[in-house]
Amino acid sequence: MKRKKRIVKNNFKDGDGQAGYCPVCGDYNLEYGDPTPYNDDLYYPWTCKTCGSNGREMYYMEFIGHHTC
Ligand SMILES: [Zn+2]
Repeated sequence: MKRKKRIVKNNFKDGDGQAGYCPVCGDYNLEYGDPTPYNDDLYYPWTCKTCGSNGREMYYMEFIGHHTC
């Protein structure tokens, strides 16, 4: 994945940030838990392996069609 501009703590608000980057220290060093439903969407809990912060990466879920097994 291409690295993008780092996010620093004093610019961070909930809803900001980039996938894969710690919003607190800016490092690309997150360890993810299992995807978890949240209302109609989902999130991945994460822990930053650099600074120890915890958070959730939020994602929309979008219907893309039925499949049969
Ligand atoms: Zn961090």
